[in-house]
Amino acid sequence: MSEIAENSDRQSKGSLTVVGLGPGEAHWLTPAAQAAIEAATDLVGYDPYLARIPAREGQTRHGSDNRVEIERAGHALRLASAGRTVAVVSGGDPGVFAMAAAVFEALEAGNPAWRDIAITVEPGITAMLAAAARTGAPLGGDFCAISLSDNLKPWEVITTRLKAALAADFVICLYNPISKARPWQLGEALALAATQRSPETPVIFARAVGRPDEALRILPLTEAVEAAGTADMATLVMIGASTTRLIAREGQRPYVYTPRSVTKSPCVTSQGRT
Ligand code: SAH
Repeated sequence: MSEIAENSDRQSKGSLTVVGLGPGEAHWLTPAAQAAIEAATDLVGYDPYLARIPAREGQTRHGSDNRVEIERAGHALRLASAGRTVAVVSGGDPGVFAMAAAVFEALEAGNPAWRDIAITVEPGITAMLAAAARTGAPLGGDFCAISLSDNLKPWEVITTRLKAALAADFVICLYNPISKARPWQLGEALALAATQRSPETPVIFARAVGRPDEALRILPLTEAVEAAGTADMATLVMIGASTTRLIAREGQRPYVYTPRSVTKSPCVTSQGRT
């Protein structure tokens, strides 16, 4: 990372906006996010996200690897502190398992003078909302989101949360379901779900939503357990609640929806107890 002369003068401090790019398509980018990107003198982010933004003269790009989020956030804060107008770009929504938390983590631990920098978060459409919109209304009732990545938390924490969400009959959205370094976690999570939910429970595998290689599959839970290995890092997996159901259509993918009304206690629906 290059040396940056940080500014101690409050008046001439730059700014930092953490921008959500949405899941893929440009028309899913908010006008506010677009404006923040256009106004930036410096763009900071993971290379594939920067690649989605057309180059503009006079704008400097600081691309980096996916693994160095806190360093990238610190770099962005140093640039802003040196008077630059910085946009840190993130896929989907920047606050959902993404760069906004890394920026605040770096801010909390970093130079106290950084706390004077104007930091804004511009929301984006997160993967679970894009996947839900493509398939119907699976998030019509209560739901939760869990990252299956055990890079930043122990697997035991993940399974404890999963069991609690299953017992409470939430629709469960699984981010970061699988990667080359984490090949078995999704299979285990779905197998755990199969011990508490009926075999027909709809499971959505929504891959690369909003991109040219988008692929959507809706499988009953028993088949989803078998198909876990076919998901990849670009897939959002959604496990239906006991009330989530399909509306069949001739020759087309069914709609998936979860009604808003709930009459039974989760203890009855998910565990057969009162
Ligand atoms: N901030 C992002 C999530 C980052 S975590 C957001 O709000 O969407 C990365 C995970 O998000 C991926 O492993 C995948 O589970 C999910 N994801 C991101 N973009 C996606 C897309 N276009 N389609 C499906 N899932 C996606």
